[in-house]
Amino acid sequence: RAKANITQNVCFYEQAMDEAVRANRTLANDLRDAVENGQLDLHYQVQTSVPTGDIRGYEALLRWKHPTRGNIPPAEFIPLAEENGLILPLGEWVLRTACSKAASWDHPYKVAVNLSPVQFAHTDLPKLIHEILLDTGLKPSRLELEITETTIIADKIRTFNILRRIKALGVTIAIDDFGTGYSSLETLRAFPFDKIKLDRSFMSEVETSPQAKAIIRAVLALGQSLHIPVLAEGVETHSQLSILRAEGCNEAQGFLLGRPAPFGEIFALTQREEVASAKVPVRQAVA
Ligand code: C2E
Ligand code: MG
Ligand code: MG
Ligand code: MG
Repeated sequence: RAKANITQNVCFYEQAMDEAVRANRTLANDLRDAVENGQLDLHYQVQTSVPTGDIRGYEALLRWKHPTRGNIPPAEFIPLAEENGLILPLGEWVLRTACSKAASWDHPYKVAVNLSPVQFAHTDLPKLIHEILLDTGLKPSRLELEITETTIIADKIRTFNILRRIKALGVTIAIDDFGTGYSSLETLRAFPFDKIKLDRSFMSEVETSPQAKAIIRAVLALGQSLHIPVLAEGVETHSQLSILRAEGCNEAQGFLLGRPAPFGEIFALTQREEVASAKVPVRQAVA
């Protein structure tokens, strides 16, 4: 009886697995057409200076509007694209689109682009980035690349050399989701990062967990001694922002400061706010 149940459960499990695999295969096929059919889009999320509130840059975040399933989050389709190699054309499209968009902005804000470990393993990234900067005319210092620890762990020496060549172009490098990997401190010691992006899990608990607050403090102190600015991810409330201000955090990003949105929408909004707070002369903003 128990055995029959187990067999039944295993069958059920296998059937569910099959369905999951099939669904993923379908999704991966759909993703193949997504670039050509214009279903992919970049949203931008503002990054601001904590002490002054000034805009520092925008992070480009990939969006996929599936024809029948609607919006699919990157957490779902990026792992698929990494498995089947689609991340290479996809990642190149993201870089190209973000750089050419940023080159068209009126203000010289930075644009931050996320890179996958697979791009490091299978493309000549420094060459590609160099080409894209030349093609789009974006000043190298306006491009920031966000990488995670997974990229570094994959092949330390190789990654180090690639990052060195990218930095030689004048492009900056940020370590994303900092504090969640298992060798964060060693990573900081060995790599010449230009920014530390503190994972948003610490922010979400800063008011309830003394431990989370202690870690934020420690990372800010670390950034200060290493002369690396720290950006706090996932800032959702005013009280979180005032804690960051009191603790001396450099930059912030999160729903409080702005949700990711098409740049056109963000631009219209920023202009209205700047006019309202008279940060720019009205005439210039209207023109
Ligand atoms: P990430 O690079 O850490 O990006 C930040 C994520 O946090 C974004 O999720 C953003 O929408 C979300 N976020 C921002 N502020 C808040 C907040 O205040 N509260 C909360 N709860 N969330 C906030 P998104 O757009 O879903 O992207 C998820 C991840 O997918 C990214 O994490 C990044 O690792 C990856 N990703 C997105 N676009 C690309 C891309 O073009 N290439 C690659 N390789 N990965 C990408
Ligand atoms: Mg990022
Ligand atoms: Mg992050
Ligand atoms: Mg993340």
